[in-house]
Amino acid sequence: MKKFINKPEDVERQVVDGYVKAYPDLIAKAADDIVVRARRKQGKVALVSGGGMGHEPAHLGYVGVGMLDAAVGGAIYTSPAEDRVKAAVDAVALGNTGVLLVVKNYTGDVVNFKMAAEEAAEEGVAVDYVVVDDDVAVEDSSFTVGRRGVAGTIFVHKCAGAAAEAGAPLPEVKRVAEKVIANVRTMGVAIEPCTVPAAGKPGFTLADDEMEMGVGIHGEPGVRRAAMEPVDAMVDEMLEKILGDLDFAAARVAVMVNGAGGTPPYELAIVSNRVHDVLSERGIAVARTYMGPFMTSLEMRGFSVTLLRLDDELEKLLAAPARAVAWTEGEVGAADAALDAAAEAPAAAAEKSVPAAGTKSTSVPAASEEDPAAARVTAALLAVAEAMDAHKDELTELDMPIGDSDHGINMARGFDAVRDQLPGLAGADAPTIMRKAAMTVISKVGGSSGPLYGTLMRKMGVAVKRAGGLTLESFTQGLRDGLQGIEDLAGGAPGDKTMIDAMVPAIASLDEALAAGTPAADALAAAAEAAAEGAEATIPLVARKGRASYLGERSRGHKDPGATSFAYCMAAVAACARS
Ligand code: ADP
Ligand code: MG
Repeated sequence: MKKFINKPEDVERQVVDGYVKAYPDLIAKAADDIVVRARRKQGKVALVSGGGMGHEPAHLGYVGVGMLDAAVGGAIYTSPAEDRVKAAVDAVALGNTGVLLVVKNYTGDVVNFKMAAEEAAEEGVAVDYVVVDDDVAVEDSSFTVGRRGVAGTIFVHKCAGAAAEAGAPLPEVKRVAEKVIANVRTMGVAIEPCTVPAAGKPGFTLADDEMEMGVGIHGEPGVRRAAMEPVDAMVDEMLEKILGDLDFAAARVAVMVNGAGGTPPYELAIVSNRVHDVLSERGIAVARTYMGPFMTSLEMRGFSVTLLRLDDELEKLLAAPARAVAWTEGEVGAADAALDAAAEAPAAAAEKSVPAAGTKSTSVPAASEEDPAAARVTAALLAVAEAMDAHKDELTELDMPIGDSDHGINMARGFDAVRDQLPGLAGADAPTIMRKAAMTVISKVGGSSGPLYGTLMRKMGVAVKRAGGLTLESFTQGLRDGLQGIEDLAGGAPGDKTMIDAMVPAIASLDEALAAGTPAADALAAAAEAAAEGAEATIPLVARKGRASYLGERSRGHKDPGATSFAYCMAAVAACARS
C-alpha cells in the first residue's frame, strides 16, 4: 500500500485538522470528528450530515453558508457511533429551531443516526432525519434494505440547506430534502479499487482489462464485472439505467459528474461530453452541470453520474447562494454577514459544549471486591477481545467480497477499547461491567455491528441484573433479549445472512442444554459449536440485510462476517467457562 499518509490510525484526525486549518474562515472543529460552521447562524433549522470518512470533500466540505451546519465523520468507511452523531446534534441544536439529519442508506449510518435522533428528541430537541438512496445500480426490493446513498446526497445538502438558510421550518426543510431524494438518481463505475488505510489491502481487485459497473462508494461490488469498454459505452449503460428508473421525459435536470478520488479532470470532462450528448438526444435539458470530486472513495479510479430532475422550486434552491469549502454558489458575502452578525456565536463555544470521543463513561459504582460473576464477565470480555485480535484479518477478509473490508478492524478496535476500560471497572458488579462495555462497543466499533453488538451486550447486562445473578439461564435470556433488540433495531430476521443466523442456533442449543440440565461449560461449548455451524450455513444464503444485501445473488457463496465474529465470541466465552 502506497499512500500519502503517516500512521493509518492518525488519518481521520489529520484529515479533519487539515481542512479546518486550510479554511478557518468557513469551518471550525467542535470535536476531533465534528466540523461546524466557523460563524454559526442561529434561529434556523440546522442541517447535520456525516458518515464514515474517506469520501472527502463529503461531508465536511459542505459545511457552510446555505448547506450543512455540522458534519460528523466516523473512521474511514465506518459510520460514526450514535454518541458522536448526538454530539454533532448538540453542537448545533442550541439556538436553532430544529435539526435535520441527512443520512445515507447504509445500515450502520441509519441505525446510529436514528438512535441519536431519538436520544436528542427525548431531550426536547426538534429533530428529524431523511435517508438518501439514489444509487440505481442496486435493485430495490422490499426484502432488502433498499438502495445505497451516494453522490446525490450532495444535492440534498444543497437544496435543503438553501431552504433552511431561508428560514423554512423543520417540516418544510424535510419536505425539500425528500423531494430531492425522490428525484435524484446515480450510478457509478470503477476501473481500479481503493484501499482502506487500516486494512492495507484493496477492497476488491480488477484485472487490467476489467471494470466494475455499478460500484458503490466504499468499493462495494456493483452489478456486473465486465471487460473494459470505451468510456462512452460505460456512460450509455449508466444513463440507460438512470433514465429507465425515473421518468425524465422533457425534464430539466442538474447533472453531477463525480470523480471517485483517482479520476483526473480530463477524464471527467470526457464523461461530461457524452452525458450532455445523450441527454440532448433524448430531449432532456441540462440546467446546470457540476463536475469534479464531490463524493470520493479514497483513491478509487471511478466516477458516477447523477441526474436530479428539477422543478422551479428545486432549481431556485440549487441556485441560492452558498459558501462551503467544496461548493460556492452566487454571492453570500454581505447578506450573510448581516444575518450572522445578529446571532453570531463563535464555534469555540460549540467546541466547549461537545464532549470529545470516548469521554462518556467515567464513574464506576463500587461493588463487592470478590464478586465471582464480575470476575467471570471480565474474563469473558478479555477472551473476546483476544479472539477479535486473533481473527481480525480473517473477519476483515470475509467483509471484502460482500462488504467494505472493515469488520475485523471494527471489532478489534472496539474490544481493545473494552479491554483498556476494564481496569477502571474493578469493583463494579457484572451487569454494570456489561453495560459500560456495551457503551464502549457502540461508540468504538461503529459501523452497523457496533450498535448491534452493543445492544446485545446491554440486553445481556439487563437480563443478568433482572435475574439477580449470572447463570446459564440469565446468560441465555440475555442472548434472547439481545437477539430481539438487534431485530428491532435493524429489522433483520433469520435467513437474512447476518449475525442473527449464528445467534439463533446458539440460543436453541442453550435452550436444549437448559432443558436437559447440561453443565454450563458443556452447554456453552455446544452453543459455540452451533454458532459456528450457523455461520457456515450463511455461505449459500443471499443477503437481505446489511451491505451484503446490495449484492443480491452475488452475495451467495460467502460467509457472513458478523455471523463469524459472533461464533468466535461464543467460542471465547465457552473456553473461559472451561478454565
Ligand atoms: P458495516 O456493515 O457497517 O461495515 P461491519 O462490517 O462491522 O459493519 O459489520 C457487518 C456485519 O453486521 C454483517 O456481516 C452482519 O452480520 C451484521 N449486520 C448488518 N446488518 C444487520 C442487520 N440488519 N441485522 C443483523 N446484523 C446485521
Ligand atoms: Mg463492514
